[in-house]
Amino acid sequence: MIIVMKARSQEKELREVVDRIEKLGYKAHIIHGVERNVIGAVGDERGKAQLQSLEVLSGVEKVVPILKPYKLASREIRPEGTVVSINDKVKIGGDKIVVIAGPCSVESEEQITESAYAVKKAGADILRGGAFKPRTSPYSFQGLEKEGLILLANAGGKAGLPVVTEIMNPKDVDLVAQYSDIMQVGARNVQNFALLKKLGRCNRPILLKRGMMTTIEEFLMSAEYILSEGNLDVVLCERGIRTFETVTRNTLDLSCIPVLKERSHLPIIVDPSHATGYWSYVAPMSYAAIVAGADGLMIEVHPKPEEAESDGIQSLKPAKFAALMKDLRVYIEAAGRV
Ligand code: PEP
Ligand code: MN
Repeated sequence: MIIVMKARSQEKELREVVDRIEKLGYKAHIIHGVERNVIGAVGDERGKAQLQSLEVLSGVEKVVPILKPYKLASREIRPEGTVVSINDKVKIGGDKIVVIAGPCSVESEEQITESAYAVKKAGADILRGGAFKPRTSPYSFQGLEKEGLILLANAGGKAGLPVVTEIMNPKDVDLVAQYSDIMQVGARNVQNFALLKKLGRCNRPILLKRGMMTTIEEFLMSAEYILSEGNLDVVLCERGIRTFETVTRNTLDLSCIPVLKERSHLPIIVDPSHATGYWSYVAPMSYAAIVAGADGLMIEVHPKPEEAESDGIQSLKPAKFAALMKDLRVYIEAAGRV
């Protein structure tokens, strides 16, 4: 159920509603909106009638049931959409299209520093780089782990970019949070519920990637795991799903963008690198994603893709990335964004 407060309701009235919700055995999530606050009451569906009676309280405008299985992720909770603040400059979900760029893996100080300066110069907003890598083969490069986190944070600091990196194991949450501005949940961990719950209790924005076999509803239920623990700063990421097509690594599900926008208030970005698997398809799919309504992009960029430890084939060289960023402008304007 969501309890929509009146536009000019007082803090005291909000508290009273929260108290009543908790007394009825529900968990109350306060969501501050631009015009009004709403409270999500989550718990056993059987007490619905009692929650409905909160409508009589002063300060309450209406009580509406949420019919979808995801509650806090649903659009009704925040119709104007969520803007996730990464720092005082970078925000995902506002008018500005946000671009995350960098190598698949952090490999060396030189590689990540060169990448950071190059993507910053081309206009990227956030630096990416994996230190804990989820590889299909146990014999492939697994990432530099803590050393990689330190190199990434230093490179981001030098270039003046916040950083995002993947978290795979719940035991590493504190460590990864120490060195990153956003923590990424990779496609393979989208239903690692222990990890999602732990991330719901940390104070870092989360970039949640869709799994390769995850339906849109399952994807939003995974987001719900994080939100229901109290962390409302979740950014969704479409990175391609597995279909019968094998020419591309995955199939970019562009239609999930308007569907997610309709159903959820959470911002959504698109990763055309993992979606296609080849650098030459990254630019056209980036343009398409922005026109379809995405709030941003995540693109793999490597100074020497031919020497990359992972995902070299889909990584853009810095010059190609700079050209993409320039050509992207016309699509950003067409989408009415900045
Ligand atoms: C990545 O971002 O490098 C990555 C491993 O992505 P995904 O989880 O989408 O495969
Ligand atoms: Mn990768």
